Amino acid sequence: MNKLSCHNLDKSYDYNDDSLQVLKNINISIDQGTRIAITGPSGSGKSTLLHILAGLDIPTTGKVIFNNKDLHLMSNKQISSLRLNNFGFVYQQHHLLSDLTVEENIMMPGLLNNINKDEIKADANKILRKLGLFDRKNHLPWKLSGGEKQRTAIARALINKPSFIFLDEPTGNLDKNNAEIIQSLLFDMSESFDVALICATHDNEFIEMFTKEYKLEKFIPIKK
Ligand code: ADP
Ligand code: MG
Repeated sequence: MNKLSCHNLDKSYDYNDDSLQVLKNINISIDQGTRIAITGPSGSGKSTLLHILAGLDIPTTGKVIFNNKDLHLMSNKQISSLRLNNFGFVYQQHHLLSDLTVEENIMMPGLLNNINKDEIKADANKILRKLGLFDRKNHLPWKLSGGEKQRTAIARALINKPSFIFLDEPTGNLDKNNAEIIQSLLFDMSESFDVALICATHDNEFIEMFTKEYKLEKFIPIKK
């Protein structure tokens, strides 16, 4: 079983006349298939923590370990390959490629992973059906509603069959109805594909659906 953990993680930023500690001594262990909510007020470091756990950013001190391997000791190429094969990331602002259709956006990480194109297309279509997006597959992102864009971003995160999906406030910009659709879909996905969810959110109803909540506190900048 795949396992991701972080140990004594600190992250701070040094500004000209002050410094800001964002993350302080964070220790989390996440097994494949588990579901963790990362909560805390705006500015408490939720996005920063997701980025560090997903290998998109580095901590000031501390370690991130994936299956006994220290991410810090890996080359950029090894981290890219780890991310492509094991991690899916759903950004708050979707980051869909505007010139590609829904189907092409979803297929992109599969193509980057050098998987056979027909195989990726078949998988993309399976996911499109499951997420209720099949009739939208030839549309460009600007034609989609907020909920459809978010579902497309989730579909794209699933294409390489990751064991961990990171989500940065996936329901933050959605109305209640669309938020509920995304929430139940994520838990359904997590169960049927045995995927861990690591999700930043401050939606209280959503938080209750997770098995664990990890609360971050907000620090204030310290004058030099
Ligand atoms: P959250 O997602 O909980 O709102 P973030 O992780 O985005 O919080 O940010 C936490 C704090 O770190 C904020 O105060 C933010 O201004 C600061 N921060 C984030 N990224 C950077 C950066 N690249 N350079 C300097 N400060 C940053
Ligand atoms: Mg954030």
